[in-house]
Amino acid sequence: MSLSAASTNHPALDQPSTSARAPHHAGLVSELGERHRRRATYDLGDHPLLERQRQRESSARTYPRRLPLALARAQGVYVEDVEGRVFIDCLAGAGTLALGHNHPAVLDVLERTLRSGLPLHALDFTTPVKDRFMQDVLGALPASVARHARIQFCGPTGADAVEAALKLVRTATGRGTVLAFHGAYHGMTQGALTLMGNLGPKVALGSSLHGVQFMPYPYGYRCPFGLGGDAGVAASLAYIDNLLSDPESGVPRPAAIILEAVQGEGGVIPAPLAWLKGLRGLATRHDVPLILDEVQTGFGRTGRMFAFEHAGIEPDVLVLSKALGGGLPLSVVVYHERLDTWRPGAHAGTFRGNQLAMAAGSATMAVLRAERLDAAAAELGARLELQLAALGKDFACVGEVRGRGLMIGVELVDAAALPDALGSRPAHPELAVRVQRECLRRGLIVELGGRHGSVVRFLPPLIITAAQIDEVARIFGQALEAACA
Ligand code: PLP
Repeated sequence: MSLSAASTNHPALDQPSTSARAPHHAGLVSELGERHRRRATYDLGDHPLLERQRQRESSARTYPRRLPLALARAQGVYVEDVEGRVFIDCLAGAGTLALGHNHPAVLDVLERTLRSGLPLHALDFTTPVKDRFMQDVLGALPASVARHARIQFCGPTGADAVEAALKLVRTATGRGTVLAFHGAYHGMTQGALTLMGNLGPKVALGSSLHGVQFMPYPYGYRCPFGLGGDAGVAASLAYIDNLLSDPESGVPRPAAIILEAVQGEGGVIPAPLAWLKGLRGLATRHDVPLILDEVQTGFGRTGRMFAFEHAGIEPDVLVLSKALGGGLPLSVVVYHERLDTWRPGAHAGTFRGNQLAMAAGSATMAVLRAERLDAAAAELGARLELQLAALGKDFACVGEVRGRGLMIGVELVDAAALPDALGSRPAHPELAVRVQRECLRRGLIVELGGRHGSVVRFLPPLIITAAQIDEVARIFGQALEAACA
């Protein structure tokens, strides 16, 4: 029996009746939009909630340190804080909210699922909602990948799925080590941390992080080979090929190569498509499974449903989270059936059956498909990139503007410093912090990432409009001007 023939009716799967929600949604969007248009420059003072958070929450807290906001309401691309200030949210749950905040289709399915009597805690038992979700995930993949795919439901976060992927390939190959890349980010659990390029979060953990060999990522602006362009891509591939071929490279054949097709936290660095194709070829030739971590790039973000599709390649293992659960916590690993050598219970965990997240994920995928939000991301991303690149001509502190789809970064540099042989100037982290703050004062939330935190990152919801994109670029231009003054 085919998967689709086995589907079952269930109240949670009824066609969404968004009409009841839509007016409220539209009303709040236009209210917040109007208030955003009428805003003055915000004075970012303190608030008792932030003060209490500072006193009581772990010192590991991250985002509120540079984005001191206590959030109250949100709709679409807009977020309102407890003081009634409205912002355009280009952080969007670190790229999670493909449909923006509180999309009516997501709210509707959540309400229907809650009222349907479905057991919300389901371990890894199947349910009609899970069955639908599994079909939707497979349906989102290219048919050639879906045909041989198996899915492992993981703990709720992206890092949990990365951990599962590592266990999967180590079990299937019997090998221990993994190749990862400079600048890589795969999460903060101990196994995922071993793959991280940034040493900062690892030093406090001493010597427990082993088993990973780091390769140069094709970061054109700061080419690790000092070459840049096609020559840098060719050198990178030759280097990895040699490392895997040379019996005296000192590097054992790895259990996998893991990468992001567009490095996100590493500074929004899209790998050249020729490099991705070359790497795929190398991995096949050396019989090494290729893991694509699409936790951040998946589900339309880069202008295709998955970032690997730009290069026309196929992963052996695909790691998915963030947008997968429609804003709720959920992660999976999708992999080729030949790697399915796990014994029963080899990977378990209590919270792998989040029915609400699966329902929200299915609803999100339906909207993505119906509204062609992947194509919209390509078009609107190009629009934003063009405007940011135009700003780069006026501001010497803009080292590079780059991205794929609605995943865009602006690398800020020290304009007063001398450029290197490739024409790149040193990073300017202090300026990046100032620009982020000036954006916030003007009603725009952006995040920083990349080497030394000097890359301003834009990850807006995929439902952002052209007019909102233009407003984002306009605010960023003003922020640059204020921060550079
Ligand atoms: N992999 C990538 C590419 C990511 O960008 C992230 C998070 O930003 C993760 C893994 C980890 O996901 P999580 O923070 O949900 O553990």
